[in-house]
Amino acid sequence: MTSLPNASHDDSIDDFETLAVHAGPAPDPATGAVLPPVHQNTTYLQDGVGRDRGFTYSRCGNPTVSALELALGQLEAAPPAIAFSTGMAATTTLLLALCRAGDRVVCGDVVYGGTVRFLEKVLAGFGVRACFVDTSDLDAIRAALREPTRLVFLESPANPTLKLTDLEAVAAMARAAGAVTCVDNTFLTAALQRPLELGADLSLYSTTKFLEGHNATVGGAIVTRDSELAERIRFVRNTAGTIQAPWESWLTLRGIRTLSLRLERHSANALAVARFLESHPAVAEVHYPGLESFPQHQLAQRQQRSGGGVLAFLLRDELPGGALEAGKVLMASLRLWTLAENLGAVESLVTHPATMTHGTMDPDARRKAGLADGLVRLSAGIERGGDLIADLDRALALVTAKVEEVVR
Ligand code: PLP
Repeated sequence: MTSLPNASHDDSIDDFETLAVHAGPAPDPATGAVLPPVHQNTTYLQDGVGRDRGFTYSRCGNPTVSALELALGQLEAAPPAIAFSTGMAATTTLLLALCRAGDRVVCGDVVYGGTVRFLEKVLAGFGVRACFVDTSDLDAIRAALREPTRLVFLESPANPTLKLTDLEAVAAMARAAGAVTCVDNTFLTAALQRPLELGADLSLYSTTKFLEGHNATVGGAIVTRDSELAERIRFVRNTAGTIQAPWESWLTLRGIRTLSLRLERHSANALAVARFLESHPAVAEVHYPGLESFPQHQLAQRQQRSGGGVLAFLLRDELPGGALEAGKVLMASLRLWTLAENLGAVESLVTHPATMTHGTMDPDARRKAGLADGLVRLSAGIERGGDLIADLDRALALVTAKVEEVVR
């Protein structure tokens, strides 16, 4: 059961679908407005020197940002979250808050490219070492944790191979080694996976994706039940100026209202598309935790509510030009799937990780992590599943025709 302090409705809601609709503050006491007002405002009247009313300056806090934070915390039965201007602002603020020169971060070998870039190209310059490990391999994690480690940072499912990590096992190992665990839960959100319930210290989000869900904002958030960690992160956010803006917060809060509905549809569409691709002769591999053939399907069933809205696949290398060229033809031929660098929105999107989201990663490290040059990432939207499959079917037929043309 999750209680809803200050919430407008029943405070004993134990069903996530209902919680997501009602999470956040009660109707505005001044006007009765059911939705929280947007406090598009910089500074706040003080009743006397040192006598503020809880807000002083919007880099430090803002009522609309607080409304979003209350809701995000409630989704994970945690105190109010900490909201950031982007998902990367959440990651960078966390790393700055936790790490000192000489500290070591154990990071998943498949994570968002920007996270790798920050660790390797920025934080390394301040004496913080990052070691990239296959977090799906518990022996590899155990070995990595033999050296003193400040933070274990991972994604499950990982972007873009969808590889999973046993969150309960890794969080327990990290805790025993004196390290903090942060799970980037962007791909699933609390609707489908709760890292804190599995023992992680922090859940991190790019709210840009499923939480806001409409391709309208960029944003980030961290949820934790550890008040000391939260205080430290808030201090660095305040100092570095990485807080979310009021209007983006409001849009994200509105997105949360439909989170359950959307994720149900995203997941159903992704599963249908994954099944279609798996049976297509031009497709060599499909990565989707919801597929029975996915090597970690059982783990997915244990720690996720469903497979989520994102999948990836590889075309056959036997196609002339190889999987990469065939993938490019495919991406250019799709009509409903927009070629763009995002995921988790109502519109279906297609991305080429090797040149887009993970383009700045060292190519050898990228391939070693299983991120093939020809890998295509799909974010299934909420359109009718049959339409999405028909578009893929048509584009795959074009790829095959082009290939046949080349062969002739
Ligand atoms: N984490 C994951 C899993 C992502 O996919 C992304 C962006 O694609 C980020 C973090 C960074 O988020 P943002 O683009 O909001 O800064």
